[in-house]
Amino acid sequence: MNNDFPILVAEDNPVSRKLLEKTLTKAGYEVVAAKDGREALEIFRQRFFPIVLTDWMMPKMSGPELCKALRAQSQNGYVFMILLTAKDSKDDIVEGLEAGADDYLTKPFNRGELMARLKTGTRILELERSLKKATEEIRLLSTKDQLTGCYNRGFLTEHLPKEVKRARRYGHEFSVVLCDIDHFKGVNDTYGHQAGDEVLKAFAKILMDSIRNGVDWVSRYGGEEFLVVLPETPLQGAVLVAERLRSSVAETTMVTAAGDLHITASFGVTGFFPDTPESSVSPDTIIKIADEQLYQAKDGGRNTVRSAPL
Ligand code: GH3
Ligand code: MG
Ligand code: MG
Ligand code: MG
Repeated sequence: MNNDFPILVAEDNPVSRKLLEKTLTKAGYEVVAAKDGREALEIFRQRFFPIVLTDWMMPKMSGPELCKALRAQSQNGYVFMILLTAKDSKDDIVEGLEAGADDYLTKPFNRGELMARLKTGTRILELERSLKKATEEIRLLSTKDQLTGCYNRGFLTEHLPKEVKRARRYGHEFSVVLCDIDHFKGVNDTYGHQAGDEVLKAFAKILMDSIRNGVDWVSRYGGEEFLVVLPETPLQGAVLVAERLRSSVAETTMVTAAGDLHITASFGVTGFFPDTPESSVSPDTIIKIADEQLYQAKDGGRNTVRSAPL
């Protein structure tokens, strides 16, 4: 029941250590016990523990020293620390809390009190967990395009340069496909903006479903323009991808509230090779050449793929 929050116990007295282990295990916690502060720190370096229950006086490294060391090194999350002590003068308690402990218990510990303190700890840890989850959701939302679910322009601006840099460093090929729906204004004008949105969603889904999971990615570059990023893909390969996308789009019946629709799209492809001169490779040039090729595809009658190397 409490397996979510394993506890690291540090206690030099074998009898107390066994008793703590037994009590905590019985309460459903996963427990790992160390015989002094130094050993506890070693164990913690190998594995993160959200709860640490430590004795005050121990050889090698005392409880407060352990608390200080753990606070200084833990980056994985909050560690709730409870000091166990025979000392209970106000000065001692202040010293323990200043060392980084969240709470303290006087020895011999009372089982009910120990459980209540742990409950406080898990409440805080659960709060931390839900905050982290919310932050992650916000992060995802801020990188994704709301309508289509693919990456947004901000993500593209941040990640295209990174991908280009990585490909150059490892001497890999790299290509992109700029995709633009043909006569999309006509879809909005004839069937309404709502149907236009549905078509955009269906179009983006075709792009996302057609690429290699986890390697390639799609971002919404503008209104009805999308950039498909294909790391480790040579230009000829990217042209094949674009051809496949072109025919999928042309063959798909898009079901919208305004009725079944058919659209086509045009594609501009570019990419670089390991021997492409450094001076011709930049995120801006990649977009520029892809855009020029897209223009050629439009000029050549639409529903077409055009490509050129960087
Ligand atoms: P072309 O074949 O030359 O690409 O013609 P086009 O009509 O697709 O190109 P144009 O760039 O002139 O028009 C793009 C249209 O896309 C204009 C705008 O109304 C529409 N659009 C842009 N963003 C959205 C959106 O989020 N939803 C909808 N429904 N329409 C959008
Ligand atoms: Mg001791
Ligand atoms: Mg356009
Ligand atoms: Mg268009």
